[in-house]
Amino acid sequence: MKKPLSLYIHIPFCVRKCAYCDFLSFPADAREREQYLDALICEIRTFAPSVADRTVVSVFLGGGTPSLLTETQLKRLMDAVYAGFSLQSDAEITIEANPGTLTAHKLFCLAKMGINRLSLGLQSARNEELRLLGRIHTYEEFLDTYRLAGEAGFENINVDLMSALPGQTFAAWQETLERVAALSPAHISAYSLMIEEGTPFFETYHEEDEKRRRGEATALLPDEDTERKMYRWTDQFLREQGYVHYEISNFAKPGMECVHNIGYWIRREYAGFGLGAASLLEECRFTNTTDRNAYRKQGRSAQKVQKLTEEDRMEELMFLGLRMMSGVEKKRFLAKTGVPVHKPYGDVISLLRSQGLLEEDEDYLRLTARGIDLGNYCMAQFLL
Ligand code: SF4
Repeated sequence: MKKPLSLYIHIPFCVRKCAYCDFLSFPADAREREQYLDALICEIRTFAPSVADRTVVSVFLGGGTPSLLTETQLKRLMDAVYAGFSLQSDAEITIEANPGTLTAHKLFCLAKMGINRLSLGLQSARNEELRLLGRIHTYEEFLDTYRLAGEAGFENINVDLMSALPGQTFAAWQETLERVAALSPAHISAYSLMIEEGTPFFETYHEEDEKRRRGEATALLPDEDTERKMYRWTDQFLREQGYVHYEISNFAKPGMECVHNIGYWIRREYAGFGLGAASLLEECRFTNTTDRNAYRKQGRSAQKVQKLTEEDRMEELMFLGLRMMSGVEKKRFLAKTGVPVHKPYGDVISLLRSQGLLEEDEDYLRLTARGIDLGNYCMAQFLL
């Protein structure tokens, strides 16, 4: 059987920058978008033959806002993917999109191109929160896009949400989640807001965030207790609505878990294309340049390469695997590293178990609910 591979394709363009965003994304004119697409397709064509022995199980067009590309540009891109790689017949093909950037015609074209999963960045169902976040759309525009996507045949739709926003009460978060769950999307990602350096939010809320991390009450950001209460209620409420809580921040209707993201958490090999995109191949991490000009001129040859050590691999298997609610599969750890998980981590496992933060059965190691609350502490124990 051919080895499985995932593809990530980065489209770094956005209408404008959201106030909390530290992703590699920016506004760009039509000329720059077209030049970028040329470089991207060239990168895909040049690289594809080197993984001819792999079967692609998932493709993810992420960003940025990939849905900003025109129908013609998206078609060119997908044609290059189909021509270059051998895709499994039921490969999951996702495009990230912002409400307000999709028309009925574009959605119809996406479906026709074989894109079978749509990930909509909503973040909040309350317009005052969307304004605060600097989002380009309203909740009503999201509802329109969601309806049009259904009409275009999309059954696998993810909705991205964000909790613990400045000034957000527990009741306000409940309102967002209840509204979205009422639509019954196949998948919901619900992350807590992180205040990232270099963003406008950092200037405004950094001190608040520090307080929140120390467990102190804050005036603007929900304090740590409220943030955890939101998280636990999300878990309980979405389970009641028929969702499987399969990763710390991800919920899916049974069988609709995201193949692509699971790949990252179990360390399936992936090839990334585009500005700043990373690949994991043959236990090496390759990272494309984040310099727009260098990428356009040199593509993949302007890459950083890091050979992962045995320790790196073990740490990643634990950090990433423990994000899954099923946990780290012991057999998989052994197969990937050649040693049983208790060899490097026996003491850590005993310590965390004695603290009620980790549980173990015959096949898996997983964080407990309290272990998830103290996730940073738990993960730090697995550093070698
Ligand atoms: S739409 Fe997404 S990638 Fe673009 S600026 Fe906003 S958060 Fe960042």
